[in-house]
Amino acid sequence: MSSKTANDYKSNIKPSWCPGCGDYGVLTALFQSFAELEYEPDDTVLVSGIGCSSRLPYFANTYGFHSIHGRALPVATGVKAASKGAKNVVVVGGDGDGFSIGGNHFIHAARKNPNITYIVMDNEIYGLTKGQNSPTSHSDLLTKINPYESIEERINPVLMALSFDASFVARSFSSDLPQMKELIVKALNHPGFSFVHIISPCVQYNKKVTYESVKERIKKLPEDHDTKDKISGMKLAFTDDYLYTGLFYDVVKPTFEEKLENVRNKCQAQSPTGSYTIQDIMKQFA
Ligand code: SF4
Repeated sequence: MSSKTANDYKSNIKPSWCPGCGDYGVLTALFQSFAELEYEPDDTVLVSGIGCSSRLPYFANTYGFHSIHGRALPVATGVKAASKGAKNVVVVGGDGDGFSIGGNHFIHAARKNPNITYIVMDNEIYGLTKGQNSPTSHSDLLTKINPYESIEERINPVLMALSFDASFVARSFSSDLPQMKELIVKALNHPGFSFVHIISPCVQYNKKVTYESVKERIKKLPEDHDTKDKISGMKLAFTDDYLYTGLFYDVVKPTFEEKLENVRNKCQAQSPTGSYTIQDIMKQFA
């Protein structure tokens, strides 16, 4: 029985999202997951980029870093690599921030495998800037920038994460609190880069991605799905029949921090001073 509750992680700033925004459910699931794992706020850092969902760190009493648009993943990778005190590093943000402006960083965080968790609240639109198509918008979503037809194909974040070799890939829906919590706890416990894609409706601007329309599309992954079988996960992520939710993929491989430590040790072993500070390294080239 955990000694903590979700309330232990609330800051004194009340969430400023629109009533009914899907991000409230994700915030609750995140705090419940922290409580289950008895995370200490002082050991926990929430990093975000820009967007409605990226306001989340303000609403938590952990450390927080509201960084710049699309750059939350490299900031979090640096926090994890540089600070031994940053035990729990969680990145939160939206689909525009993560897959458009920050799309390149998504690739490289996945392949580096830092021990961080990345939660994307995907509402298939830019909410903060009042409703433009995002990289995950469906083609029939007409918005200010696509008033007649959508001229860009949408991306598939789960398929992308699998193809980028992320070591943990899951998807959920912001009104399914038990499943979100279960997957976030697993993601936080995963040693490496864990990606949790959460469909989180924007009730203000996206009238196509509603709670009702998402409920019609989603289906839990088959119980016999092998989470070590990437090709099976890719096929299930690729299908147009359903929007599957659950754990697609989960494997353990060396983390970025472990590999970095290995390089540090090799560098230290070769250093004439037995150290690897930048000054010591520069002395070798003096
Ligand atoms: Fe949520 Fe949309 Fe409101 Fe932003 S604009 S807070 S995404 S409902």
